[in-house]
Amino acid sequence: MTQKGNIGVTTENIFPVIKKFLYSDHEIFLREMVSNAVDATQKLKTLSERGEFKGEMGDLTVRVSLDAEKGTLTISDRGIGMTEEEIDKYINQIAFSGVTDFLDKYKDNANAIIGHFGLGFYSSFMVSKKVEIVTRSWKDGSKAVKWSCDGSPEFEISDAEKEDRGTDIILHIDDDCKEFLEKGRIQTLLDKYCKFLPVPVAFGKKTEWKDGKQVDTDEDNIINDMEPLWTKTPSTISDEQYKEFYRKLYPMQDEPLFWIHLNVDYPFNLTGILYFPKIKSNIDLQRNKIQLYCNQVFVTDQVEGIVPEFLTLLHGVIDSPDIPLNVSRSYLQSDRDVKKISTYITKKVADRLNGIFKDDRKDFEKKWDDLKLFINYGMLSQPDFYDRAKDFTLLKDVDGKYFTTEEYKTLIKDAQTDKDGTLIYLYATDKDEQYSYIEAAKAKGYSVLLLDGQLDTPCVNMFEQKWEKSRFTRVDSDIVERLIVKEDLKKTDLTQEQTDILSATFRTQLPHLDHIEFNVETGALGENAQPVVITQNEYMRRMKDISKFQSGMNFYAQMPDAYSIVLNTDHRLVKAVLEKSEKECEEELKPVVAEIKGLQARFAALGEARKAKKPEEVTQEEKDDMTATEKKLSDERAKKEQIVAAHAKENKVVHQLIDLALLQNGMLKGEALDSFIKRSVEII
Ligand code: ADP
Ligand code: MG
Repeated sequence: MTQKGNIGVTTENIFPVIKKFLYSDHEIFLREMVSNAVDATQKLKTLSERGEFKGEMGDLTVRVSLDAEKGTLTISDRGIGMTEEEIDKYINQIAFSGVTDFLDKYKDNANAIIGHFGLGFYSSFMVSKKVEIVTRSWKDGSKAVKWSCDGSPEFEISDAEKEDRGTDIILHIDDDCKEFLEKGRIQTLLDKYCKFLPVPVAFGKKTEWKDGKQVDTDEDNIINDMEPLWTKTPSTISDEQYKEFYRKLYPMQDEPLFWIHLNVDYPFNLTGILYFPKIKSNIDLQRNKIQLYCNQVFVTDQVEGIVPEFLTLLHGVIDSPDIPLNVSRSYLQSDRDVKKISTYITKKVADRLNGIFKDDRKDFEKKWDDLKLFINYGMLSQPDFYDRAKDFTLLKDVDGKYFTTEEYKTLIKDAQTDKDGTLIYLYATDKDEQYSYIEAAKAKGYSVLLLDGQLDTPCVNMFEQKWEKSRFTRVDSDIVERLIVKEDLKKTDLTQEQTDILSATFRTQLPHLDHIEFNVETGALGENAQPVVITQNEYMRRMKDISKFQSGMNFYAQMPDAYSIVLNTDHRLVKAVLEKSEKECEEELKPVVAEIKGLQARFAALGEARKAKKPEEVTQEEKDDMTATEKKLSDERAKKEQIVAAHAKENKVVHQLIDLALLQNGMLKGEALDSFIKRSVEII
C-alpha cells in the first residue's frame, strides 16, 4: 500500500527556502541527523529503565555510512523507531505560520530557524535531493514503514522490509553537495559536532596497513568519547586527566595554568570545565576557544553573549541544555537566564583565583605573569569582576617582587606622596631601555613598578579613576626631581637672555628624526645629575598608547612623539657651552639684540594703543603697522637663532651631549650613531 500526502506547511514549497537561506551552515545537517539518532537511542534506554521496554537492547551503536555508488549518506540507529502515526505526527506535521517572514528575519542564522521550528530533521534537505526514512518502532507488533520525499511538499509513505527495531535515514546527496560523500569531510564533521555524544557513533571500520594498503578491520571506528570529563564527578578526576582532556581539545596548546570544573543544577543546568591558558599577547587571536555543548552535542565555539567577554579568553567546554541555543545573539544577550549564567561563571572564576591566591600565594605569584592579561581584561570590561579581583590583583616591581595593591600603597606612602598629598606610582615599561631613569628613581628611594603588559595603559587609567589621589608616572616622563614634586623646585639662575642663547645652541643642533619632535627646556638639576636628560610627557604618551585601543582617537595616534630635552644648568659642561656661545656670538648678536629690544618696545606700545580703542576704531594703517612689526620681530629672532646656530654647529660638546642623551634612550641609530662614535674617537 502506498499513500500520498502533503507536508503541512503553509508556504508552497519550503525546501528551496531552506536551501537558499541556510546555505552557509549546510554542514549542521549531520549534527541534526546524528543527534536525532542518539535521542531515539536514549529514549529506548529510558523505556528500558522504566521497565516499559522488556526486550533485548543489544548493540546500540549509531552508524554513519557512505555509499559512493548510490550517492547516499545513511544514519542508522537501533533506538525507538517510529510507527506510521508517529511519522505523521513528528515528520509530516511541521505546520507553522509566517515561515517566510521568519526565514527572512533570520536568514543569516540557520541555527535560529532550525531550532525554532524544530526543523532539525528537515535540515537534511539542505544537502539532499531525496530523503528516505526506513523505520520500525520498538513497540510489539509494529510494522516497518518507509517514508520518502524528494524535496517537494509531497511525500510518499509505504510498507517496508526491516527486521530490526530502529531507524535508517538515507540521504541522497544533491549534486552540488558532493563534498558530503567524501569520507574525510564526514570524518571532520563528526569530529566537530559528535565527538562527545553519549551513545557510540561508528563511522565505518578502523583501518590498518596490510600489504602496503589501508584496509578495513572488523572493529568499528567509534568517533566519540561517551563520557567526556566534564560529565564526571570532580573529586574522581586527577590533574593528569584534566590535562589530558585539555590536550584532546587543543592539541597545539601549551599546558593550561589551571582549571575550574563547573557543576550547577539550580537555577539552571550547566556543567563544564574552563581552563586558564597561558595568554602572552595578542588577546584577539585567543578567542573562540570555549566550546558550547547542549547535552554533549557541539553547538558552537562562539560563546560571546553567553559568557562575559573577558572569559572568552578561557578555553574549555560548557554544556547546558538550558541555554536557548537556537535563538539570535541579541536575544541571548538580553535573556535573563543567560545573564544569570554569565554572572555565575564570573563569580566562579573569581572565587577560584581568590582560592589559589589565599591558599598558595607563592604559586599564585608564579602564575601571575601568565594570568595578568586575563585578569586585567576582566577588570577593565566587567565591573563586578573588578570588585572581586581587586584584592588579589598584584603589582610587580622592576626587581620582580609582587605586592597586592594595598601592600604597595603602604610601601610607597611615605616616600612617594607629593606636596598635594597625591600618591605617585612610578613605573617602567622596559627595564633595559629605561635603565638609567629607574636607577635615578631608586637612588632617590623610590620604588618602580614594571608595567610591560598589553593592557597596562588602560589599567593605569582605570586605577587612577578608582583610587583616590593616585597618579601613575613613567620614570622617564620627567627629570627625577620633578617626578614627585615635594616642594617648589630650585629655579635656574640664568637670565632670560642666557636661557635663550643656551636653548638656541642646543635647539639648532637637534637631530631630525622621523615622527619625533623635541622641545628644549632648562632646569637646575644639580651638579651631579646628567648634563642633558630626555623625557617624554606622561599625558601625551599615554594618550597615544590609548589611541591604539580605542577608535575615535586617531588624532593622537597621528601626532608625532614629543620629547623634552632638559638642559641641566647646574652642570659644568652645560655652563661651559653657554659661556662659549655667549662669548663667540656677543659681537654679532649685539645689533640684533638691540633691534629686538626696540621692536619689542614698539610692539608693546602698539598693543597698548590698540587696547584703548574700540575694535571698529582701529585703522587699517595701525593694523598693518602691528603686523609688520611682528614680522620684523620674528625675522630678527630667526637671525639671532642663525647666529647662534652657526657657532653651535662647530661645537662638538653640544653634539656629544645631545647624542649621549639620545643614546641613553635608545634613540641614536644608524648614521647618527656612526658619526657619534667617530666624533668620540676624535675627542679621545
Ligand atoms: P527535534 O529533534 O528537535 O524533536 P527534529 O526535526 O530533529 O526535531 O525531529 C523531529 C522528530 O522526529 C523527533 O522529535 C522524533 O520524534 C522524530 N525523529 C527524528 N529522527 C528520529 C530517529 N532517528 N528515530 C526516531 N524518531 C526520530
Ligand atoms: Mg532533532
